[in-house]
Amino acid sequence: MANGARKPLTNYFGNNDGSFVIAILLLLSFSSHHSFANAFITLGSATTRTRAISLTQNIHIDSNDIRLQSQKHIQQDDEGEEPIIIPWLIVGGGIHGVHIAARLLGSPGAKSLSSTNAGNICIVDDNEHLLQKWKVRTSATGMEYLRSSAGYHLDLEENSLRLHFGVKPKNGTGSGGKKKKQKKKKKSQTSLSSSESFTKDYERPRLDLFNEHCDSIVKRYDLEKMHAQGSVKSIQPNDSCVRVEVSSCDGKTLVYEAGNVVLALGNDEPVYPDWVSEEDIKLGLVRHLLDNKHTTIKKYQHEKTMYASETQTHSHGRSIAIIGGGITGAHKALELVRRRQSKERDSLLVDNVHMISRHPLREQQFDTHQDWMMDRAACKRSEKAGGSGIPKRQRMFANNLSWKERRKIIAQERVPGTVTPAVNRGKNGLCYAIGNGNIEWHQAEVLEKRHVNFKKYADSDDGNEDNKFGTRMELTLSCGETIEVDEILLATGFGKKLPGGQLIQRDLIEIAGLEVSDFCGFPIVNENLQWHPRIYAAGALAELELGPSARNIAGARLAAERIHQSIN
Ligand SMILES: Cc1cc2nc3c(=O)[nH]c(=O)nc-3n(C[C@H](O)[C@H](O)[C@H](O)COP(=O)(O)OP(=O)(O)OC[C@H]3O[C@@H](n4cnc5c(N)ncnc54)[C@H](O)[C@@H]3O)c2cc1C
Repeated sequence: MANGARKPLTNYFGNNDGSFVIAILLLLSFSSHHSFANAFITLGSATTRTRAISLTQNIHIDSNDIRLQSQKHIQQDDEGEEPIIIPWLIVGGGIHGVHIAARLLGSPGAKSLSSTNAGNICIVDDNEHLLQKWKVRTSATGMEYLRSSAGYHLDLEENSLRLHFGVKPKNGTGSGGKKKKQKKKKKSQTSLSSSESFTKDYERPRLDLFNEHCDSIVKRYDLEKMHAQGSVKSIQPNDSCVRVEVSSCDGKTLVYEAGNVVLALGNDEPVYPDWVSEEDIKLGLVRHLLDNKHTTIKKYQHEKTMYASETQTHSHGRSIAIIGGGITGAHKALELVRRRQSKERDSLLVDNVHMISRHPLREQQFDTHQDWMMDRAACKRSEKAGGSGIPKRQRMFANNLSWKERRKIIAQERVPGTVTPAVNRGKNGLCYAIGNGNIEWHQAEVLEKRHVNFKKYADSDDGNEDNKFGTRMELTLSCGETIEVDEILLATGFGKKLPGGQLIQRDLIEIAGLEVSDFCGFPIVNENLQWHPRIYAAGALAELELGPSARNIAGARLAAERIHQSIN
């Protein structure tokens, strides 16, 4: 479909004889009296019907322990049993998947609540725990505070994070005019000065406290019990359900028939520069800070000991190069400097910290303007308080029906590779660390790399000659310098491709024929983020509808609100 033309969702119903519309009406009528699972039974085949009934019974009997049910289904599936019927299946248990689950379960007064009780949601995620990727990645960067402010978190109520840590919310947060805001900001700085839970600038939460609050949400809604560890391998939507094939962690295949699927898959893969080889990674010379394959929490926690023991065997001081001049690289560089300066004998860890960036340091407070982060509830509050309601930026975006133009707006409004003023010019900030030589800044690209062997200071007496030598990396930079380092940490962010690989490209775009923008290949979803009547998109996949903040925590809140509204 040409850019600019929005296909009405009703088109999806056009191919059949109207039975699907009748089915939906049936579902709606059922949902007020029965659980969605029960309604589903009516639509399923005779064999499916039997299976669905037993699942519904399980839900009532064993306190909705989906994980137990999944284990049971692994065996049943091996024996050629029926697929698992589930009203809501969320693919991805990151920030987005978890918040959407909480919203479906916790929103008061929703007509459909009966269809979204705990037993009716399953979160399929390939990690052992929910939010694992978020926690590993953020801990690997060494960041202390989030970039976003206290209103962006995984609970429903805007002030939940503040209240969790005993901080009084400001009146009328997020609404009102400019003048009012400035006044309030000053007030909030004074009222928060006694608390380290949030920064004085924009009330940004401390990472460990933010995570503690996330855990409290997971616990409140018992979300770990709804987590089925596995990788979704295929998705086939049809009129009556979405068939989802999941490869579980023990290699077995489970088949779900879901009433609704939410795609909360996260970003494209981390980006590796062309000059990095497999061997560099295998030798431990290069590591991407956001790649969970190479950065586990365990590895990060043991980094200290690892570096300390290695340093004792080196005849030279340990040097680290960070590639990337954005906030991830800045956090990591500052963390290494902090550790070097700490009183523990951590100071032996790293002697030289290099930061290599193609561009100069660029300051920006948030990933995108705050106007892009305002959800509809906040817009309504703003309107009531005499503010302007839906921000101009959002209205302009929604009124622009060209997907190409929308992509351009997103690119303009979401500038990668920036650092916050606090990280740059705050106490012990990046510009001071560069100024006093604690961080060596190189505005350059890496032109060449070479492995260099060196003799270790303390020879190993195990007779193995290989153990007497280590390998370092020599980097030739476009600014004319050459540096030798022990490890290279990539802070080069994520790729820009459509996330989800074959799952999205093959199953949903090529086979199911779901609509994408001709310009960028990203999904065209309706206002409620439905890419198909039974498939919802979140995060990057919903970017053309939600705008530049779609990938952030704010975007998770915008997505959850829209999805919830569609079933209300
Ligand atoms: C270091 C860092 C700091 C950030 N700081 C902030 C901040 O301060 N404020 C802010 O608003 N945003 C911030 N962000 C951005 C954003 O909030 C995060 O990227 C967020 O974690 C995205 O959440 P997600 O759920 O979309 O993706 P993810 O956290 O990646 O979760 C997606 C999950 O889906 C799983 N998955 C994917 N495909 C499948 C499949 N086929 N089968 C099963 N499971 C699958 C993945 O394994 C993963 O667990 C930060 C990001 C990073 C990396």
